[in-house]
Amino acid sequence: LFGYVGIEAVLDQMKIKTMKTGFEFNIMVVGQSGLGKSTMVNTLFKSKVSRKASQPGQEEHIPKTVQLQSVTHVIEEKGVKMKLTVTDTPGFGDQINNENCWDPIIKYINEQYERYLREEILITRKRKIPDTRVHGCVYFIPPTGHWLRPLDLEFMRRLSKIVNVVPVIAKADTLTLDERAEFKQRIQEDLKTHAISVYPQEDFDQDPDDRVLNDLIREKIPFAVVGADQEHQVNGKRVLGRKTKWGIIEVENPAHCEFPLLRDLLIRSHLQDLKDITHNVHYESYRVRRLNESNR
Ligand code: GDP
Ligand code: MG
Repeated sequence: LFGYVGIEAVLDQMKIKTMKTGFEFNIMVVGQSGLGKSTMVNTLFKSKVSRKASQPGQEEHIPKTVQLQSVTHVIEEKGVKMKLTVTDTPGFGDQINNENCWDPIIKYINEQYERYLREEILITRKRKIPDTRVHGCVYFIPPTGHWLRPLDLEFMRRLSKIVNVVPVIAKADTLTLDERAEFKQRIQEDLKTHAISVYPQEDFDQDPDDRVLNDLIREKIPFAVVGADQEHQVNGKRVLGRKTKWGIIEVENPAHCEFPLLRDLLIRSHLQDLKDITHNVHYESYRVRRLNESNR
């Protein structure tokens, strides 16, 4: 009667709908002061958003971050509009006594779940609930080349239970390629020994194809990243990079660092998965916890 409506048509409709309404995607960056978090926020946007011309060589001074601060830009990827928000946080674990230093971060993440929950339980729900939930939390590991510090382990252990944690080796340009590889291996062992499950968690692989793809990513985690918010001229092209005595480290060049892997994971290949796991796993366990509390 109505003819056959193929799955492609359904997918197209879904795509048209998201294209019209757009969607929200929220990332948070966390770690000690001076590891390049604020720079990375700019790197993420500059590598995606229409290049804002900047004066080569003229370092923009990034002020020290003293409070939670969000930056939002609407970016378009293959005709789909996305409202990307990156929340920058002040140096974490800078104190002599770092007891409970993760509290403000955990509080922020839970507050966003709470907001969503309140909208969701209203009788007359909005057609589209504003989503400020953190879909990915990028944790900056200092490039010591040794082992993870107890603070790093404790943070990731706690946070990985409530949010998708994506660890990165900060300022990887300060390590040689061999040092990066060795450090990465140690971190992977450390995480395994302490049973800390960062994103993408093996438990949530959907099918064998997923597993194969995610295994490749798990081998490369934590990505050794370099951030920059300056553009330089390289072979007649403008590239985002850091100028050093020995040449320019191009942040978007996969031969120079793994920033491209981080960007692709977050805002391309795993964007929908990060959203799904946030909603189906992390938000869901928050919701169950809260509803149990109020039933008591
Ligand atoms: P935050 O405190 O974590 O927000 O760090 P900032 O982004 O403010 O950066 C602190 C300093 O480190 C600045 O001088 C940056 O230019 C520099 N920096 C940022 N990213 C990198 C990087 O990937 N490599 C190197 N070598 N320096 C970086
Ligand atoms: Mg900062």
